[in-house]
Amino acid sequence: MQLAQLPEEFIGAQPILETLEHAGYEAYFVGGSVRDTILGKAIHDVDIATSAYPEEVKALFKRTVDTGIEHGTVMILDHGTGYETTTFRTESGYQDYRRPDEVTFVRHLEDDLKRRDFTINALALKHDGTVVDLFDGLADLKAGVIRAVGNPEDRFGEDALRMMRAVRFASQLNFAIEPATLAAIKDHASLLSKIAVERIHEEFVKMMMGSAAHRGMGLMIQTTLADYCPGLVGHTIDLSTIATLPKLRMASEVEVWAMVALHLGLSYPDMVEFLQAWKTANHIIKDVNLALHLAYAQQYHQVSDQVLFEMTPDTITAGSHVAQISGYGPSDLNLWQDAYAKLPIHDKHELAVTGADLMHDLNLQPGPAIGDTLDKLIAAVIKQQVTNEHTALLDYAKDNLVKDSTK
Ligand code: ATP
Ligand code: MG
Repeated sequence: MQLAQLPEEFIGAQPILETLEHAGYEAYFVGGSVRDTILGKAIHDVDIATSAYPEEVKALFKRTVDTGIEHGTVMILDHGTGYETTTFRTESGYQDYRRPDEVTFVRHLEDDLKRRDFTINALALKHDGTVVDLFDGLADLKAGVIRAVGNPEDRFGEDALRMMRAVRFASQLNFAIEPATLAAIKDHASLLSKIAVERIHEEFVKMMMGSAAHRGMGLMIQTTLADYCPGLVGHTIDLSTIATLPKLRMASEVEVWAMVALHLGLSYPDMVEFLQAWKTANHIIKDVNLALHLAYAQQYHQVSDQVLFEMTPDTITAGSHVAQISGYGPSDLNLWQDAYAKLPIHDKHELAVTGADLMHDLNLQPGPAIGDTLDKLIAAVIKQQVTNEHTALLDYAKDNLVKDSTK
């Protein structure tokens, strides 16, 4: 196969491949960007593989950075953007089901391609657009199939993360997992417990954000991989509900976790514990908390201005989307966003009085009463019972909220 037109990202890197070839080495584009180009999808990272050893690569270019020299990766900066070049290599060992004990640099492309996970990820592309297809990856791309390179039992035994990657690609590409590869995942699912949670997390979120996430979730259940993910064992029925949702199309990590937490029926403390077990970043947990709050409020028809006030525009988008997909939300996703925009204030700091004002003007003593009164003032402003204006708020507090003031 010969590609007539290469994407711009490849064209920028063509001089690197040519320089390597002129010096007598082989060099190819490899990995996901080749797969995605053939599928007509946009590409993000350009990976180059070469028969030149790292020192040989460095000798050919003026500006290089050792970004992963022990794995053979050198960043070349001679052509504007940096391009990562990795020496052909084989991997061996894998005593811990995750990382090779030894990486060996080799001169043959085939050796490098056969260590790759799936046939669709083992294609190589020459600088002139010729596709090198040693493992029938093109046929699998055309048929929509994820197939392990070589013996799937061995490949998942070497690196258990590949099982999550298979499910992730099935979701992103809406591909089927080839039967022998699928059977091997079922056999080896328990090995997932050997893999660092952070790496499972990354694949799970990508899977959930894929265009066929319902398929990915179905495969997580069918293969029992879900049972080896934090907090998912025993939740097959809840996860099956997610797998049957039409239009499951998560736009962010926050939506992914709000969706899972909603369907698992997690309380807020349980949600925090669940996401911590997944080693989720704190700022994500904070936003999931809000999005989940809105989604639950929609489920129980309890969305109020007070609930919206707690939100941010992004968490309203996430919460509404999750609720809508789950069948709880209004079909108009702008409904809550518009109601939010109309709130008189959007943050407690916008209140026109402070705790100090209350102490000074109403003679309140420091303590919980201050925070309590501020909260009540915020609630009154949101309900439009009082305008957010200094004197009006103090008068309102004197008349309605503060019993022991000096009025
Ligand atoms: P993405 O679009 O998510 O970047 P990708 O296929 O490029 O997908 P990467 O994780 O960037 O995935 O890896 C680049 C390439 O390295 C893959 O296409 C595959 O050939 C190889 N690869 C990555 N991870 C593994 C693995 N765990 N086992 C074997 N090969 C792998
Ligand atoms: Mg990639």
